[in-house]
Amino acid sequence: MSWVVHKFGGTSVAGAERYRNVGELMRREPGARKAVVVSAMSGVTDALLALVDLATRRDPAYEAKLAELLARHVETARALVPSAEAERLAGVFASDGRDVADVLRGVWLGKSSSELTRELVAGYGEIWSAQMLAAHLGTAWLDARTVLTVAPGELGPVVDFEGSTARMRAWVASHAECNLLIVTGYIASTPEGVPTTLKRNGSDFSASIFGALLDASTITIWTDVDGVLSADPRRVPEAVVVDAMSYDEAIELAYFGAKVLHPRTMEPAVARGIPIWIRNTFNASHPGTRIDPKGARSSRSPVKGFSTFDGIALVNLEGTGMIGVPGVAQRLFGALRDVGVSVVLISQASSEHSICFAVPEAQAELAKKTTERAFDPEIRAGHVQRVDLLGACSVLAAVGDEMANAPGVAATFFAALGKAGVNVLAIAQGSSERNISAVVTRAQSTRALRAVHAGFYLSNRVLSVGVVGPGLVGRALLAQLAAQAPVLREESGIDLRVRAIANRKSMLLSETAIDLKSWSLDGGKRSDLDAFADHVQAEHLPHAVIVDCSANDDVAARYETWLRRGIHVVTPNKRAGAGPLARYRAIRALGRTLSRHFLYEATVGAGLPVITTLRDLIQTGDRVERIEGVLSGTLSYVFNAFETGRAFSEVVREAKSLGYTEPDPRDDLSGMDVARKLVILAREMGVEIELAAVEVEGLVPRESEHAKTPDEFLDELAAADAAMARRRDEAAARGEVLRYVGVVDSSGKATVSLRGYPRTHAFARITATDNVIAFTSSRYRAQPLIVQGPGAGPDVTAGGVFADLLRLAAYLGQASLQ
Ligand code: ADP
Ligand code: ASP
Ligand code: MG
Repeated sequence: MSWVVHKFGGTSVAGAERYRNVGELMRREPGARKAVVVSAMSGVTDALLALVDLATRRDPAYEAKLAELLARHVETARALVPSAEAERLAGVFASDGRDVADVLRGVWLGKSSSELTRELVAGYGEIWSAQMLAAHLGTAWLDARTVLTVAPGELGPVVDFEGSTARMRAWVASHAECNLLIVTGYIASTPEGVPTTLKRNGSDFSASIFGALLDASTITIWTDVDGVLSADPRRVPEAVVVDAMSYDEAIELAYFGAKVLHPRTMEPAVARGIPIWIRNTFNASHPGTRIDPKGARSSRSPVKGFSTFDGIALVNLEGTGMIGVPGVAQRLFGALRDVGVSVVLISQASSEHSICFAVPEAQAELAKKTTERAFDPEIRAGHVQRVDLLGACSVLAAVGDEMANAPGVAATFFAALGKAGVNVLAIAQGSSERNISAVVTRAQSTRALRAVHAGFYLSNRVLSVGVVGPGLVGRALLAQLAAQAPVLREESGIDLRVRAIANRKSMLLSETAIDLKSWSLDGGKRSDLDAFADHVQAEHLPHAVIVDCSANDDVAARYETWLRRGIHVVTPNKRAGAGPLARYRAIRALGRTLSRHFLYEATVGAGLPVITTLRDLIQTGDRVERIEGVLSGTLSYVFNAFETGRAFSEVVREAKSLGYTEPDPRDDLSGMDVARKLVILAREMGVEIELAAVEVEGLVPRESEHAKTPDEFLDELAAADAAMARRRDEAAARGEVLRYVGVVDSSGKATVSLRGYPRTHAFARITATDNVIAFTSSRYRAQPLIVQGPGAGPDVTAGGVFADLLRLAAYLGQASLQ
């Protein structure tokens, strides 16, 4: 009856509970005969190797550390198996511990450790782990060193399949009744019978070797993630499980650093066509990833996965004397091979002017010296100008069988890197076209990985959104997004993910999109806009935008920093647009030069297309001469109602009770809000004025400026009723109505005042909280261009902000036109 092999990594056996879980899984999994290859408990191999290092350095701490390690095992055994068994195991651990202590004592005395010693000590973790699992399951265990022999080879251990198979068969023959066998991962013997290992993370390799030795029908590698992911999930939170991949894809991905699999795991399986499954011990109901000869087409992307390989140095050999000279590459790589330097990647320009190659950082100096020696005559003769070395690099690789047939893969890959501002130091594409690799600096490697992953796996229109100041407008925006974001994602591929919300006091930060139907800032962190911005600008998402729905200057003061670091800004807050000119210029300049976008349509006329219209006129070459408008929805309402003959103070009181005014109506009546909007419009038409330059006729009587409360103010305002009524009547006598308007012209003159307009004028015909803006330009001279409609209220303002977000999504990837 055929065997199936299961392998449990350190993460799957981190403690007694986890061993029990493994037992449970093995009881449930189908298969007549199971061989379970097990790693050391999580962290144990590292700890054992650290003991050797401590002893080498004559640090006496090694004794206590060894005792600690043994105690951890005894403790786990006691929690896992009945006490008699636990005590038996404790005896085994103690005796092994004495052996280890003896070896370490030798290391201490000799102040040095051989490779042999390290391998011997490192293997105990698996020996202890396998015995605990076997005791728990009440079954046999096999010390792999008694069966598996490997000889050291240039590319790692070489398995003696013939001898090992024979020994395995003999073992099975003498244990015919054994249907559940626990095998130590990682360890093996040399042909001389000396304990050795399959090198770090080698238990995956063990699993596949035992799969071959037992002629297993499948090999399942159990770990702590759902399968092979499209990238290392610790670096790319957006990574997704790959359902199926070919051996070739898995080999390439593992070779370039995907830790989930040891690169050599595939060899024995490939030779026998045994499928390998990667599954999650923490989530056994997930089917995992299947790796087999064919793999499968992916509907998502021709690239199956991305990985990075750190600790790389780049050597660049450059010289005019190499052009057309045959054998240069052979000489170079021959020399490197002779000294045992492993070359990870090669890139040669077709001009043959330079050859660039990547090597492990530990071999960098050796590689440079060897290269210099090999080309010594050329260097002397001046035919080779330079041998440069650049350390602290990483290789970034994209892997997928279908890349060969899919045009544009390289373009997407490099465009993603370019957009993320990653500097590519060298490029190589394997001739199989199954792999594109780029060398980048270590400092940029995570950014690079996230960028390419996003480039292939996320639409370019994924935005990480942060909302500051969820007052009325912010809340309305979030409600609109809650309703509309799913539709946008489905229909236009625009994916607006609100991942952060903050007010003055607290903030809510979430890795994934916040549920906008049920969010709350209660129990959030203390508000900190720097941390907020860091969070919004997630490296794994292609774009970040902060929507400032506050009315605060201190938030506006951060736009420049945000834009500079690549966060777009969308806002209905007038503080930046109408704030100090120098700051405004800096923000706008950033918007132009770096394709960062600063969008503020909702600062004027709420959701009405005011700024957009103005911009369209200017960008199409029109000259705007004058802008005149009713720019305050509140005051629009007030004067529409006042027209009917009511008392001014009464109308203001009504507007306040309807929620149309600011909490203190003086903020509307002062005219400063209109003046700010006028400044924004002026600057947009090219007239760079400061707020102080606007002549404002305020409607707050001087004596009421200092009234204590808004209500007291409203009482006092009655004193102005008679004067206001007189102005209304005088206007009426001229056939006019009063409107509170802002006017700016191309000479820079800007005023905010109460003016009379004939009843036939467009401004006279507005209702409710309408805004109306008239643009006079070279093209619209006789008849101005009019934009009119409701210009106040949270919903329409939020609609304006939302429209800016969509505009932003449309701009992304294009140069800014602002
Ligand atoms: P084990 O102890 O089971 O051998 P490892 O820690 O060696 O587990 O490998 C599993 C880890 O590999 C995962 O937790 C994950 O963080 C990491 N990893 C790196 N790249 C990938 C990838 N492309 N797919 C899945 N996991 C990956
Ligand atoms: N325990 C060994 C290591 O940590 C082998 C493995 O877990 O794969 O390298
Ligand atoms: Mg592993």
